[in-house]
Amino acid sequence: LKIGSPKELYAGEARVAMTPDSAQALQKLGYECVVEAGAGKAAGFSDDAYRAAGVTVLNTATELYASADVIAKVRPPEASEVEHLTPGKTLISFFYPAQNKDLLEQAKNKGAAVIAMDMVPRISRAQKMDALSSMANIAGYRAVIEAGNNFGRFFTGQVTAAGKVPPAKVLVIGAGVAGLAAIGTATSLGAIVYAFDVRPEVAEQIESMGASFVYLEFEATQDGAATGGYAAPSSPEFREKQLAKFRELAPEMDIVITTALIPGRDAPKLWLADMVASMKPGSVIVDLAAERGGNCDLTVADQRVVSDNGVIVVGYTDFPSRMAAQSSTLYSNNIRHMLADLTPAKDGKLVHNMEDDVIRGATVTFEGAITFPPPPPKVQ
Ligand code: NAD
Repeated sequence: LKIGSPKELYAGEARVAMTPDSAQALQKLGYECVVEAGAGKAAGFSDDAYRAAGVTVLNTATELYASADVIAKVRPPEASEVEHLTPGKTLISFFYPAQNKDLLEQAKNKGAAVIAMDMVPRISRAQKMDALSSMANIAGYRAVIEAGNNFGRFFTGQVTAAGKVPPAKVLVIGAGVAGLAAIGTATSLGAIVYAFDVRPEVAEQIESMGASFVYLEFEATQDGAATGGYAAPSSPEFREKQLAKFRELAPEMDIVITTALIPGRDAPKLWLADMVASMKPGSVIVDLAAERGGNCDLTVADQRVVSDNGVIVVGYTDFPSRMAAQSSTLYSNNIRHMLADLTPAKDGKLVHNMEDDVIRGATVTFEGAITFPPPPPKVQ
């Protein structure tokens, strides 16, 4: 069969789902590879680099969709892209089926199979295909770089002939995949890093990375931990304690990186306007929850705003795309691992095994039916 990647249509999206390296790995699975001309350009992969890797470069998206049996892309497809699908074709991309019901219906009507990379179960066996994690890791790193770019001072403390410089103080709120990457990046740049999460089990991880876990004085432990390692909304009492702690920390912090999310809900508001108002001028907030409404009251999605007291609030939602070479490399690896599981005989033939938990979990349309949501996972 043939696997193809089109140019992404979403404005400003620089990533691509197939790189010359991943194409070579896909060829070892027995597939032929095709890309649309210019598909990798914004991520630094030229058409010639694809050709050198044995990939056929096609001029238009229409040709690509006609030629490829499996279409691998990054962003959820637009309706015009789903229109190209036919029975027998498989689309693999981020899809967010709960938010894209119309696309789901359209793909089902087209009779195509859709594998949503955002639906890959987060179990150990599937880590190599976990694109949410690979992209969150990049976003966490880039959030710190972006903070540094906006912060007019060093991260690390220095004693120089020209004067003594104190280290920057960084607070990371939410220590999931992105938060942990931000903590690692900020500590490695020499900042003093504090981190908070509602899930108490991350305290050890935070401390092992050289950051301090922010404990609350609360009767039980931190609450808000739910099933499957994800967070649940906190109780009002817990939330009040949390906000009081943040209020106490706000005047001290130079950089605040917020990453707190609760599956299926708007981002919880945790860094309120009065906290921003009590920060020093020149402090920076990077809100990685901006796409889901933001953790900070002042966040505007896709914008950099400056508060009345001179605090910079960055709400960009495209951090992985801002590091398109790295994110395309990791995302294309996630896709290639998914295809390896879909190609057990390495013979270029796709076996869509709906008995496999990972494949079943990620498949949202199959043989003319909507297969989302998947059945609950078997107890492991
Ligand atoms: P996420 O993006 O859904 O949330 C980010 C973080 O925000 C989470 O750590 C969450 O606890 C935290 N949060 C929510 N409400 C908060 C609040 N009020 N205050 C402070 N923090 C708050 O999470 P994620 O990064 O996708 O990871 C979620 C979990 O899944 C983690 O435990 C992670 O280790 C786990 N995980 C497991 C696998 C695997 O086993 N394959 C892969 C990825 C992630």
